[in-house]
Amino acid sequence: TKMDSRSIRKAFLDYFESKQHKIVPSAPLVVKNDPTLMFINSGMAPFKDIFLGVSPVKFPRVADTQKCLRVSGKHNDLEEVGIDTYHHTMFEMLGNWSFGDYFKKEAIEWAWELLTEVYNLPKDRLYVTVFEGDAKENLAPDHEALDIWKKYIAEDRILYGNKKDNFWEMGDQGPCGPCSEIHIDLRSDAERAKLDGKVLVNNDHPQVVEVWNNVFMEFNRKADGSLEKLPAQHVDTGMGFERLCMALQGKTSNYDTDVFQPMIQFIAGQCGIAYGKDEKTDIAMRVMADHIRAISFTITDGQLPSNTGAGYVIRRILRRAVRYGYTFLNLKEPFLYKLVDLLAEQFDGVFNELKEQKDFVKKVVKEEETSFLRTLEKGIIEFEQYIKSVKSVKKEVSGEFSFKLYDTFGFPIDLTQLLAREMGWTVDMEGFNKYLQEQKSRSRAATAIDTGDWIMVGAEKETEFIGYDELEAEVTIIKYRKV
Ligand code: ATP
Ligand code: MG
Ligand code: MG
Ligand code: MG
Repeated sequence: TKMDSRSIRKAFLDYFESKQHKIVPSAPLVVKNDPTLMFINSGMAPFKDIFLGVSPVKFPRVADTQKCLRVSGKHNDLEEVGIDTYHHTMFEMLGNWSFGDYFKKEAIEWAWELLTEVYNLPKDRLYVTVFEGDAKENLAPDHEALDIWKKYIAEDRILYGNKKDNFWEMGDQGPCGPCSEIHIDLRSDAERAKLDGKVLVNNDHPQVVEVWNNVFMEFNRKADGSLEKLPAQHVDTGMGFERLCMALQGKTSNYDTDVFQPMIQFIAGQCGIAYGKDEKTDIAMRVMADHIRAISFTITDGQLPSNTGAGYVIRRILRRAVRYGYTFLNLKEPFLYKLVDLLAEQFDGVFNELKEQKDFVKKVVKEEETSFLRTLEKGIIEFEQYIKSVKSVKKEVSGEFSFKLYDTFGFPIDLTQLLAREMGWTVDMEGFNKYLQEQKSRSRAATAIDTGDWIMVGAEKETEFIGYDELEAEVTIIKYRKV
């Protein structure tokens, strides 16, 4: 029998507890006091000050499941989400840490033992990567990790990776170090048979995915771009919970696991469209099921949608979900908020904040949806007037106008194409892309000073610092309460 997601999460925490790790709660997703980071993007981010030697260590070994959000900054996966089946906006990262305690040997041994002996993943479907070094930064190849891995896995399944994949950095600044990733091959036996022993990692095939990253924290990237040695050596690991569930439940998409299926089936039922029948409607369902998690947990953790900074990031995610629903699932009325009940139930006993703030979250989401749908409707009226008034023998919507719909009314180009098609028109895609490129280079220039767009939340929702409790002080988790 397959493990359900609750048991999978629990097995991880139990395993590391048995290895003397202190289990701590997830920190809030929203970061309030760090100009280099808007949202927690990895399990290690809340422990940054411990790695830097700024905060004291009370528990040298810690494990948890951390809510993460990758929609801005250095780790931004938003464009992949829904299109592929294993990158989310908000996801859980299972992690174990050593703060100046154990290092590569134990980290690798335990990762391997947990995956192959507790979770019973087939060894012949696992691959690992180690850092190949980087001459420019004067970093040596990680022979130490390689030698340790050789005890567990055949050498031809150990691949060298470059700085992009195997040197982990939290952001442009902060703790960093070489890492060793574990990948799993989820392709069918038939497909694998065609391989002739060729080793793959996730860049090569969508069903060969990275599940776990073990980072050996040794450096700090300074503001001037240089690396300095940290005062001690640490271990920071992060395993994608939803990907692990996919592997353990014998699926090839995170959305086919019990983490996402209740929401997907609810959406499918409400729309009267089956999931798995058509790529476009599938993507839309995945986007909605994914985005509502990010939206809900940022609200519970202290960030409302707004027009600036972190709030704007959330608003854009919400609108992306509404547009997919509107365009492909014919959802013309507020809908996303209805998913919050399912989520609150799912995270009961894991992240209780959602259950506690459920009605508030639903209200905020519904209001946002209502107002954005109104904007969409206005854009449609604009579109109809355009079709009536413009003389185009080719029956082609101009690039300029389709860009205006995109820019002013938040229309994705898909929606404009859909509307055009319904009238027997086409869209000048080349023209649209030209305007889009121009805008992109304008905004690239504007965000060149990356942290400059970070704006502290204040007026919209006041948060009151309620202090650290005994445990949290040690791991520098800061608690806020809405007032
Ligand atoms: P990928 O190469 O697949 O984008 P990554 O190397 O960016 O992953 P890490 O920063 O190493 O990811 O994070 C640790 C783990 O978190 C990954 O091994 C993966 O299992 C999981 N993970 C990373 N990004 C996402 C995401 N957007 N959604 C779900 N899980 C993720
Ligand atoms: Mg990534
Ligand atoms: Mg990777
Ligand atoms: Mg990685």
